[in-house]
This record gives sequence, C-alpha cells and structure tokens, in this order.
Amino acid sequence: IIQVSDLTKNYGDLKVLKGITTQVAEKEVVCVIGPSGSGKSTFLRCLNQLEEMSGGRIVINGHDLSDPKTDINKVREEVGMVFQRFNLFPHKTVLENVMLAPVKVKKMSQEEARKQGLVLLQKVGLQDKADVYPERLSGGQMQRVAIARALAMNPKVMLFDEPTSALDPELVGEVLAVIKNLAKEGMTMVVVTHEMNFAKEVGDRIIFMDQGIIMAEGHPSEVFGNSSNDRLRSFLGKVL
Ligand code: ATP
Ligand code: MG
Repeated sequence: IIQVSDLTKNYGDLKVLKGITTQVAEKEVVCVIGPSGSGKSTFLRCLNQLEEMSGGRIVINGHDLSDPKTDINKVREEVGMVFQRFNLFPHKTVLENVMLAPVKVKKMSQEEARKQGLVLLQKVGLQDKADVYPERLSGGQMQRVAIARALAMNPKVMLFDEPTSALDPELVGEVLAVIKNLAKEGMTMVVVTHEMNFAKEVGDRIIFMDQGIIMAEGHPSEVFGNSSNDRLRSFLGKVL
C-alpha cells in the first residue's frame, strides 16, 4: 500500500534522507527505530507530505506523491498521523475534537460524526470522557483521543511518530495497547518508536534507520538478533 523508492530529503546542504527504498504491505505493521537525528520523523513527514521530498518516489494507496496532479489533501485524508505531542483543541470537548475533521473535511453530518466519535472513543477506552475538555485528561488519555481523532477520517494507513515518548512511564502501556489493538484489527501502520519490546511484539517488520539510510530491515527476530551490523548492535546496546 506504500512504495518508497530512493527517497531523498535535504535541508539546504544537510542531507537528511539519503535514498530510502522500502514498501509497506496492506495490514503490515512496520516499526522504525534508530538514533536521534537519523531521519525517522523526516521520513514519516515525507509520507504524508508535511515535508516535500527532494528526490525519489512515494506512492501511497495508488497516489503518486511526486505527481503534481495528485491531490495532497486527499492523500492526507487517507493517511492518519499521530505525533509525540497530541495538539488537541483545548476549547473543544474530547468528542468535539474527534468529530471536527469528518464534519469539516468529509462533510459528515453532526449526528453521524457524533455516533462515530462515540464508537471511536469506546475503542480507545474513553467513552466516559466524551464531554470533558482536554485539560482534564492525563497525557495517556490525550494521546488516545489523538488516535481516535486520526481514526475518525477512516484512514487507510496510520503513521505514529514516537506516540509514547512524551508520556510518563506508567501511561505508556495504555497507549501502546490501543495501537496493538489496531494492529490486530488489520490497520496498516508505520510506527516510529523507542519501545523496543513493543516493536518486537507488534512489528511485522523493523526498519533500523541510521544517518539517513535504512541500515537494517527485517523481521524483528532478524533485526534484534543481528549482531553482525556494528551500528545496529551499538544502538541496541544503548536502548535494550
Ligand atoms: P529523533 O529520534 O530525535 O526524533 P529523528 O530520527 O526523528 O530524531 P529527524 O527529526 O528526522 O530525526 O531529523 C533528522 C535531521 O534533520 C536532524 O539532523 C535534524 O536536525 C534535521 N532537521 C529536521 N527538520 C529540519 C528542518 N525543518 N530544517 C532543518 N533541518 C531539519
Ligand atoms: Mg523524530
């Protein structure tokens, strides 16, 4: 459902992505790991065109992102993204946050959006918080609302950029559990994460990025068992 070939991204003279080639199959969960500054966020941001690529080709669900005729807003509707920070609208209730995009972008009726919103809140375990304002939520709850909000657009693919790294340790599990459930339901996902146990358990494939390239890629057992790659071994030594 995603094909990336020889993707490059430069910021001025700085080459951040130096030729990324990979693909993601439907229902696959790909976890992206790697040191800080290796280009993980930039890669995700290129996938939904928050950043314009410098070179190469990305095709998502049949949309060629380098084709000027491609409607980027349409692509963004099909690709949900959840960030480290949740960015909920503070003056809207939890349910209103989840209803907003489908009503505005998809012209869904209020009634239908409300119905869908409640189902999604139930899915992330927050149906009882529907009418609460975000300031009254814990970080883990906010992040679960952010996931429900992204799901409200009924995306084909979900991208997560370190969804738990801004959370207190005791709140990480509840967010990972929601993502794990999405995986079980067959959602196609690319998850940048520092949670190696999660990556091992939920990832169908691991991509290890280092200095703007994919340094290693494969089934979790291969990547986590790979001691022949020095950079990977050194990274895993620090995080495991
Ligand atoms: P982390 O684990 O810390 O989130 P990362 O792997 O996500 O790191 P990126 O955020 O993709 O790394 O950044 C890769 C490189 O690109 C870094 O050197 C960063 O400074 C640089 N970079 C990122 N965004 C910009 C920007 N808008 N302008 C210039 N340089 C940038
Ligand atoms: Mg990042």
